[in-house]
Amino acid sequence: MPIYEYRCLACGHITSQLVLKPAEAAQPVCKACASPQVQRLLSRFAYHRSEASRLAEFDTRATYGPDFYKDSRNVGLWAKKRAQELGVDLGPQFEETVEKARTGKILDEL
Ligand SMILES: [Zn+2]
Repeated sequence: MPIYEYRCLACGHITSQLVLKPAEAAQPVCKACASPQVQRLLSRFAYHRSEASRLAEFDTRATYGPDFYKDSRNVGLWAKKRAQELGVDLGPQFEETVEKARTGKILDEL
């Protein structure tokens, strides 16, 4: 039985819903604030997508909550996407800097 997950666009709460029949999943609401403004998350496997696909979907104009940045793999994603949008080649130096930021090493060098 599939479990659908929805992220509330109003409060960010993730609501899981066991879907017995697809029709019942048509109009989910946030269990925290009852907002119908929820966005379907593809699945837990979405967290294991490649960086390339996360980068492709990443919207630099969107506001991401603190939970987003708790995933260290998302650190640097914004900068990479912006650079991509601006047509800037960041080069291997940037990759290294991001890697340091992810592991917290960058703080040692400041
Ligand atoms: Zn909510």
